[in-house]
Amino acid sequence: MAETDIRPTNFIRQIIDKDLQSGLHQQIVTRFPPEPNGYLHIGHAKSICLNFGIAQDYQGKCNLRFDDTNPEKEDIDFVNSIKNDVSWLGFNWQDEPKYSSNYFDKLHGYAVELIEKGLAYVDFSSQEEMRELRGTLKEPGRNSRYRDTSVEKNKTEFAKMTAGEYQEGECVLRAKIDMTSSFMVMRDPVIYRVRFAHHHQTGDKWCVYPMYDFTHCISDAIEGITHSLCTLEFQDNRRLYDWVIENISIESVPRQYEFSRLNLEYTVLSKRKLIQLVEEGHVSGWDDPRMPTVAGLRRRGYTPASIREFCKRIGVTKMDNMVEMSMLEACIREDLNENAARAMAVLDPVEITIENYQQDGAEQLIAANHPNDESMGTRTIPFSRKIFIEAEDFREAANKKFKRLVLGKEVRLRNAYVIKAERIEKDDEGNVTHIYCSYDPDTLGKDPADGRKVKGVIHWVSAEHAIPAEIRLYDRLFNEANPAASENLVDSINPDSLVTKQGWLEPSLTNSEVGKAVQFERTGYFCKDPSSTDEKLVFNRTVGLRDTWARSAQ
Ligand code: ATP
Ligand code: MG
Repeated sequence: MAETDIRPTNFIRQIIDKDLQSGLHQQIVTRFPPEPNGYLHIGHAKSICLNFGIAQDYQGKCNLRFDDTNPEKEDIDFVNSIKNDVSWLGFNWQDEPKYSSNYFDKLHGYAVELIEKGLAYVDFSSQEEMRELRGTLKEPGRNSRYRDTSVEKNKTEFAKMTAGEYQEGECVLRAKIDMTSSFMVMRDPVIYRVRFAHHHQTGDKWCVYPMYDFTHCISDAIEGITHSLCTLEFQDNRRLYDWVIENISIESVPRQYEFSRLNLEYTVLSKRKLIQLVEEGHVSGWDDPRMPTVAGLRRRGYTPASIREFCKRIGVTKMDNMVEMSMLEACIREDLNENAARAMAVLDPVEITIENYQQDGAEQLIAANHPNDESMGTRTIPFSRKIFIEAEDFREAANKKFKRLVLGKEVRLRNAYVIKAERIEKDDEGNVTHIYCSYDPDTLGKDPADGRKVKGVIHWVSAEHAIPAEIRLYDRLFNEANPAASENLVDSINPDSLVTKQGWLEPSLTNSEVGKAVQFERTGYFCKDPSSTDEKLVFNRTVGLRDTWARSAQ
């Protein structure tokens, strides 16, 4: 198995172990709370593996909760893609998926409770005034003139907000905490605002929507979440999280813990930037195989096990860092080396005629589907007088290091015979257009009888039987290791991130399963693209056989 069985250990699991030992909790409950405003990316996969992984290992549960408080940006298509991606990664959520919007009634009730306790007020200040009064990191904020409005009046005004009597931006409900706090989030944060927006779950029922900070902690408490795990940028928000829970009548006390988000070299992991790539047409969509989205990785031929293994290897800490893309690539390479079937395909063909081979008809040769795994069986490959090999596998003259076909010398055709290059044809520019060879009929599955040593082995396909296919060679989407840091994201897009070839496949590849990678021997791992039809096959390169970026960096 490429996926290791070692149970991860990290600071969050240590906290959980302690909480179980002390009896604080009997059962561990976590949640994965995506906002349905885009597709999941590999950073989300880290959070998914953490939350669902903990639930699995501690026999607890993990909820899938859509954090849907921004109706304008959210969409049911995103909800569906997220469910699909979480299941594909191999995780099951508890019961039905949850939605923060399931709790809008309760959340509204808690807002009223805060008002009644004198801990929230409706503020009619303009946005500019509010910004002005908020202060800065160096200077304390100042109180709004609406801060001391009576409880009764606040109740009436919030009721009017809720009834749609105020326009968007006219007023907001704020928590009454401390305008001089050194934590900006504690300076009377907005907890409800007016939005006349249709919501994908609640329709037109509401025209006031709760803010993230108010919603998240209460949703956690309602669901009995014990450990609410989020990324480090929410560290300060933890003060507000705890304040809300302390000041409303709710029994459960969830605790928030922060870990560092995944940053991955040569890509971006921010939905806003991914949306930009899609909307400006730099990629073909959310599932473009160059995208770091779960959908993109799936289309590229990544397996769920390889992504889970990657998340295991990067671990969970509080340290911000940038993970090398080669680490992700190593995970899929290891998985496919072990599990992908082998086949042959030629991407840059040159034609060979084997002059001493029979004129008509073909032989069916038998080849193993995997060199080390007999259970993967065998297949037949047609062999005939005309074959294609890679143009780069032939040279007129070469030294001994070149273990491929050289004029006047021999090479073994993978799964077939030894051939010898006798003569060539060239075009006006000196390119080799045709190679005439002879073959040794006594070398099928064995070395030449007279003890001749033939070292090189090259791949090939029968020209007459090969199936044409479009081969998409994908590479990293950006030239810069940290494209998010550059002024204009688009400037660092790698112009060679997609190179298209017209190649030839051995016939067995027509039956390939979409998205299931096979090794094209000596070339890399490839999988059939979902856009393939019977008339036109398209294959995507998942990853090369070796890390070519590491080599060029040396
Ligand atoms: P983005 O910054 O891409 O818009 P987000 O945090 O707004 O991401 P959410 O849908 O709110 O996206 O994220 C759901 C969960 O996934 C959150 O708990 C969030 O902390 C976590 N998450 C998002 N991005 C990463 C990342 N790069 N690494 C680890 N966890 C992440
Ligand atoms: Mg978010």
